[in-house]
Amino acid sequence: MSDFKFVTYETLDEGTIARIMLNRLETRNAQSRGLLVELDEAFLQAEADDTVRVVILGGAGPLFSSGHDLGSKELIAERRPGPDQHPTTLINGGTRKGAELRMLQEWHYFFENTKRWRNLRKITIAQVQGTVYAAGLMLMWACDLIVAAENARFADVVGTRLGMCGVEYFAHPWEFGPRKTKELMLTGDALDADEAHRLGMVSKVFPTDDLTDRTLEFARRIAALPTMTALLIKESVNQTMDNMGFQNALAACFSLHQINHAHWAEIHESKWAAAQEEDGIPNWKTAPPIVLATKTEVRADA
Ligand code: ZN
Repeated sequence: MSDFKFVTYETLDEGTIARIMLNRLETRNAQSRGLLVELDEAFLQAEADDTVRVVILGGAGPLFSSGHDLGSKELIAERRPGPDQHPTTLINGGTRKGAELRMLQEWHYFFENTKRWRNLRKITIAQVQGTVYAAGLMLMWACDLIVAAENARFADVVGTRLGMCGVEYFAHPWEFGPRKTKELMLTGDALDADEAHRLGMVSKVFPTDDLTDRTLEFARRIAALPTMTALLIKESVNQTMDNMGFQNALAACFSLHQINHAHWAEIHESKWAAAQEEDGIPNWKTAPPIVLATKTEVRADA
């Protein structure tokens, strides 16, 4: 175990498998700057270690990650001058203003880091349980394989809850398919683990209590492959997607995401860069619950 504060890092099976766990239980593993920077360090530690063949990324507690941290006490302290200000808020565009500040900080800490993890020189497995919403999807999608607990649910609710056109790393059409993406984002509805498996996004669905053990077993199977073979399989698929336009599409959609933020910031006196009730978006606290997308109902019962 290492001395990270927001994640844990351990190696198993004589160092061949690294397991990184998001570990911010009080916020359900919400992604603060501190967590994201540590996660990057942990991924790079696994990448640098030649003994490591497979990296598991999971989340401690009842759910994988509740998404971006939108306002915990720690997050506010990270952004304000003071002893708990995160040093990365003063670099990489953090001292600029307006859309430039937002674009640069999101590029470094939401976009480019997620792409870096996607291109890690190791095979990565996301181990997810509970609700995986919005930015939770980005972390999961950055991994090569996804293993889900039976209770997992997936949704990007930033359209219906924040008036945004998706999270910063817009892999949605590549993961859900184009029409399903439109449906899910326009309704804010969720997929369950079986449907995610049917779509091919999830490789395995395990009983929730067995998730950790079965994911490790799965990782062992992958780790048995020669490292050169495993990496070139990963690269063959990633380079195919890149040639189909994956990275260019991600970059274009990141720009649209920034336009979307800038729109809300421009029309709000408070400069708040997401939609509010006055814009026709329900308040987070009173919004109707997120339900599953079903075939026959306009909106499923909660
Ligand atoms: Zn954003």
